[in-house]
Amino acid sequence: MMDRYPTLVEVDLDAFKWNLERIRDLIPPETKILLVVKADAYGHGAVRISRFASECGVDMLGVATLDEGRELRNDGISLPILILSPVLTEELEEVLQNDLAVTASTFDFAAAASRAAVRIGTECSLHIEIDTGMGRAGLPRDSAVEIIQRVKDLPGLKLDGIYTHFPASDSDIDFTLDQISFFTGILEDLRKAGLLFQFIHCANSAAVINFPSSHFNMIRPGLLAYGHCPSIDLKDRIEVVPVMSFKSKLILVREVPAGASVSYGRTFIAPEDMTVGVIAAGYGHGVSHRLSNKGRVLFRGRKVSIIGRVTMDMTMIDLTDFDRPEVGEEVVIFGRQGEEEISADHIAHWDGSLNYEVLCRISKRVVRVYLRSGKIDSTKSLLGIHEMTQG
Ligand SMILES: *Cc1c(COP(=O)(O)O)cnc(C)c1O
Repeated sequence: MMDRYPTLVEVDLDAFKWNLERIRDLIPPETKILLVVKADAYGHGAVRISRFASECGVDMLGVATLDEGRELRNDGISLPILILSPVLTEELEEVLQNDLAVTASTFDFAAAASRAAVRIGTECSLHIEIDTGMGRAGLPRDSAVEIIQRVKDLPGLKLDGIYTHFPASDSDIDFTLDQISFFTGILEDLRKAGLLFQFIHCANSAAVINFPSSHFNMIRPGLLAYGHCPSIDLKDRIEVVPVMSFKSKLILVREVPAGASVSYGRTFIAPEDMTVGVIAAGYGHGVSHRLSNKGRVLFRGRKVSIIGRVTMDMTMIDLTDFDRPEVGEEVVIFGRQGEEEISADHIAHWDGSLNYEVLCRISKRVVRVYLRSGKIDSTKSLLGIHEMTQG
């Protein structure tokens, strides 16, 4: 059925469910899960992932922007949704109309949210972020308690949550423990002042594994649910499987004589007569230009080399050692083929990026196909899948 797509991303929903179960193994049953689905669910398709995640019992969704939250609401997703990044005050009205919760990093923002809520006659669900060491967003930790006490008196606000974020929960134990204890101290001061929060959440993927004391009553993983670890050292600690595979096809097979060049800049000159495959994916699909003359892909269950520069729409590979490669044959950019696997970690290593980025950079032009039990999920028509990727 998917034969008509030369390039596609396969999203294995069973793998996603498996990963959620492995994450649940690490937390008490009453601990809630806020699944982070920003950046189109790390490239997996936020609408489909969010819908499936709500079936799997996830309690809340985390996005980065108003548009991401609105996309989910427009699809009828009813779970609570928290916007993790600061939004502009100009966006607040639409935030409220779409029943999205926002994060406050300043008193002024909370005051603007209060005014917007009063103006349109609703309540704004607010989570307070505290900067205990991330150095990005959040109230300064030393004045947090004082600011929150002023925020609590503003009309139109529901102080639903409080959180902090870890910059090094995969690598710096002492620093992270210090953050956790500072945050715990703030919670204690707030409790003494009569301020309790329904949702207390800190743990990103690495902290889910490394710091049970950071779990509070809700965890906030992203990457782990998609089957990847924030760092190689954590790999042995949880048995997650990659949810996404990125696949293309040969759209041409060519004989290239010794001495001829391949692709822009003529950075590759054939050292001998060669067979070169052209695949239907380039940097405009999410195959990094930095993989030029460097990366590898899978063909007939073996790793083969990318030759010449990756172009916007096509990439050339060395198929000299194969018997009659044919147009239409599958090429795996990352994922499994036969006994071999190329992971997002391999690609990140080759091109000097991050596994997070390898997943996120796959563009909207690549169709996402959802599988259950290795089969295409029949609950969604081809047309539906297509609509969704056009977001
Ligand atoms: C992206 C993000 C997360 C998820 O991080 P992972 O490392 O993917 O688990 C959690 N919290 C915040 C505030 C984030 O921005």
